Amino acid sequence: MRLPAATLAVFSLAAPAEAEQRAAPPRVAPPIVHAITPALGAYTDEVLFGDVWRRPELAPRDRSIVTVTALITGGSTGQMTGHFNRALDNGVTPGEIAGIITHLAFYAGWPRAMSAVPVAKDVFEKRGIAADQLPSASRELLPLDQESEARRAAAVEAQAGATAPALARYTNTILFADLWRRTDLAPRDRSLVTIAALITAGQADQLPFHMARGMDNGLTQAQLSEVITHLAFYAGWPRAMSALPVARTIFEARASASGAGAQRRQTLDILRQGSQPSSDGPADYFTGSVKVDSRFQRSAPARIGGGLVSFAAGARTAWHTHPLGQTLIVTSGCGLVQIEGGEIQEIRPGDVVWIPPGERHWHGATATSAMSHYAISEALDGKSVDWMEKVTDDQYGRRASGPRDC
Ligand code: MN
Repeated sequence: MRLPAATLAVFSLAAPAEAEQRAAPPRVAPPIVHAITPALGAYTDEVLFGDVWRRPELAPRDRSIVTVTALITGGSTGQMTGHFNRALDNGVTPGEIAGIITHLAFYAGWPRAMSAVPVAKDVFEKRGIAADQLPSASRELLPLDQESEARRAAAVEAQAGATAPALARYTNTILFADLWRRTDLAPRDRSLVTIAALITAGQADQLPFHMARGMDNGLTQAQLSEVITHLAFYAGWPRAMSALPVARTIFEARASASGAGAQRRQTLDILRQGSQPSSDGPADYFTGSVKVDSRFQRSAPARIGGGLVSFAAGARTAWHTHPLGQTLIVTSGCGLVQIEGGEIQEIRPGDVVWIPPGERHWHGATATSAMSHYAISEALDGKSVDWMEKVTDDQYGRRASGPRDC
């Protein structure tokens, strides 16, 4: 923790003698900020520019690329002039700024990119930067790694081909086969821009792919950690915190893949019976006595999770939905399942039940028999269930024929 004693001045309003002996923090926040929001002025000068920007984990040039990306992605036009100038001072070339704006048309949208262009024009003009110092539209493209590109293209085709064939085509022929191969930005910097844009926009879904690609393109774990830290200030704490689980998963996957020789296969993982204690189904989400065992949650890029859920007689879930659906595999006893508006159906050992995405439903034991099932579902944005109100006794008991034991 390197928060300097000077930070305390924010609260005490009197800089301690020790702080005065340090190099004075840069005066970056405009006078109006110090006048109207003095604490913000102090944080800006002492923490953001006096500490964060000076951290050696990320070079000033990289911090400028990340900051400019956050401003364009967030549409913060008012701050662009200062940071475009700072970027040029930190060694980002005019051509690279043009490349960042162009790249972000795809990752933050055309309007965001278009809004940044006049700001860049003014900055370039004031610094006497001529148009011939900027990259032309037609240029030689970087070579493709045929094998990994074929895999990536096939994945895009599988994901988007049936639903939006033109989007799949643009993704493959324009985004990856053209934009990513342009020479106005190095692939490593292009990854840096993409990752910063995704974090700023809160797009965790695409982050695992691009963090892995970024590390393939030469970004280090320490740099990516620092990108997230830096973006806490420019995109807000929540965005940075949301990026952490993704980063941890990627770092762990990389560490285990490269540990003890990169060729070593990943080890399998057996969660032994009884190695984790049963947990109780929370009273907010279940009625009656419910135990959960063999709980598992796979890490990204896998998204599957689940466990063995055991309902005592009369116990059941609350109403709920699963964003990507759920599979139930009954292992013992006799149970009930209902999608709202449909019939309550009995389920028995060996039955495999599919709950479609987004359908309100409940499941549980019958009134007279316990029931256990494996419940397996995939997470969307880290979430696999949305809980709602309890299933009332009236709803639970409303059946054409009374519950039978299996
Ligand atoms: Mn369910």
